[in-house]
Amino acid sequence: MTTSTSFSIPKDYVIKKFYEYGYGTQYIKSNDTYHCSCPICLEGKSFGKKKRCWYIPAKDLIYCHNCGWSSRPLKWIMQAGLISREDIQREIEEGEFSIINLDKKRLDIDFENIIKCQEDEILPENIIDLSNKLQLDYYKANSVINKALNYIKSRRLDTAVNRPKTFFISLKDRTHKNRLVIPFYDCNGKIIFYQSRAFGANIDDYMEDVKYLSKKNSQKSIFNIDKVSDDIEEIFLFEGPIDSCFVKNGVAVGGITPSREKSLTDIQEEQLDYFRMNHRFIWVLDSQWLDDASYEKTRILLENGESVFVWPEKVGKRFKDFNEMCMAGKQNEVPKECIVNNTLSGEAGLLKYKLLMKNR
Ligand SMILES: [Zn+2]
Repeated sequence: MTTSTSFSIPKDYVIKKFYEYGYGTQYIKSNDTYHCSCPICLEGKSFGKKKRCWYIPAKDLIYCHNCGWSSRPLKWIMQAGLISREDIQREIEEGEFSIINLDKKRLDIDFENIIKCQEDEILPENIIDLSNKLQLDYYKANSVINKALNYIKSRRLDTAVNRPKTFFISLKDRTHKNRLVIPFYDCNGKIIFYQSRAFGANIDDYMEDVKYLSKKNSQKSIFNIDKVSDDIEEIFLFEGPIDSCFVKNGVAVGGITPSREKSLTDIQEEQLDYFRMNHRFIWVLDSQWLDDASYEKTRILLENGESVFVWPEKVGKRFKDFNEMCMAGKQNEVPKECIVNNTLSGEAGLLKYKLLMKNR
């Protein structure tokens, strides 16, 4: 059993390591999970006060709400403990973990294994913040930057009610050059993912045709999750980030394929689970009247027991998505009632949907 590249790790071993490496680890009996102050990011200013790193045995997952770390326990143990795979395997074979000493908690801070999550490392090369006055002043004669600012303005992304803190652009990055970079913040306002969108500034036709591009080698997170408020009962799940900027508590998943078993990433599932208890989730897709994919996806989501906003015929035959509708109406916000009052769910909802769509 020493040759395989992946080997199973007993839960007790993970628990032992979670107590050993995490700070102030605690067990939550009600849902059989463990949480600690994350030894990988140290959780910034709130270190020691909050415990945002979770071990969820049922999902075989360790996830940090602060730095976005998300992996199987093996990888986390290797990083948090700076311990090799071989050593882990040996420890497991020796079986020493079966007696868990939960009093053995980490008190010292090990600065060596902290992974710095600097925004300039996360984002594309030579990033320019499109709301930084100094940077904008420096680039004021640059045609690409001006085109980007005009795009933001014409799409009402500078005034939309639920817009992110800022947008970025890179004039140099090999992949994301001359595209609008849309930052995905986590709950603590840290950027952990991004998508870039073509807006007519690429010289390369091919790059211009690819509407959205995601950050490489990295799991999608939920866009706008940092803006979710507990005062609003619903969370509106959009596919595209731009559309979600026009509704309070609008978030975006960056595309779904609901026919597949799993259409959200582990990080996205975790982020949503955090809010599931106190919020009702409503899917808001492009107009089912104009978009065939959206028409299909709505049916599948309803069949899967989800709640979905169905565009009223008159509006849905005029506008493809929320951004288009808001541009035409010079609006910065769609009141949530417009969505809630046109939301279907359950078997009755599915029947009603089929009936409504007969005139399609
Ligand atoms: Zn962390």
